[in-house]
Amino acid sequence: MMSSRSIYANVPAGTHLPSAVNAIVEIPKGRRSKFEVDKDTGLMRLDRYLYSSSHYPGDYGFIPQTLAEDGDNLDILVMVNEPTFCGCLIQARVIGLFKMTDRGLHDYKVLAVPSTDPLFAEFTDLDDVPKHYLREVEHFFATYKQLEGVTTEIEGWDHASAASAEVHASVDRFMADLARRAKSQLG
Ligand SMILES: [Mg+2]
Repeated sequence: MMSSRSIYANVPAGTHLPSAVNAIVEIPKGRRSKFEVDKDTGLMRLDRYLYSSSHYPGDYGFIPQTLAEDGDNLDILVMVNEPTFCGCLIQARVIGLFKMTDRGLHDYKVLAVPSTDPLFAEFTDLDDVPKHYLREVEHFFATYKQLEGVTTEIEGWDHASAASAEVHASVDRFMADLARRAKSQLG
């Protein structure tokens, strides 16, 4: 879990949950370098250069103040017409959910579009996304760790309603964890 010292930890999950969320970008679209928020310092750090010769199919990062089943923030992939940058905050509209398993744990990815990009104004659910883009994302997450000897299991795509439910569940998990930690500090 992210250090509370990180400025990103103080960002709310979104203003109109669960359909409009805040996305913190770690890896801009087109990059092969895997940046992530360092749990100890709260800074953006270079985790690794992807072993596979492939690049992220969208701006990739996390929704703050959420807790996914793998113990990290809920992951999010934002379709963008132009890559933003590491640390950028994007107000995003949730349109789908990519379901996969990594090392035996659910590692779902929320698919979203920037709320303020007019070229994505008609994108509200999975059916609005070009089918080939969904295939690209699926192929990327099925193969990006192969040369590290890690296999990921792909479960497939689900609709915006499922993604919103996952956001909701991850916010609830975060709040429950926060309450549990506060309680254990009181002894
Ligand atoms: Mg994850």
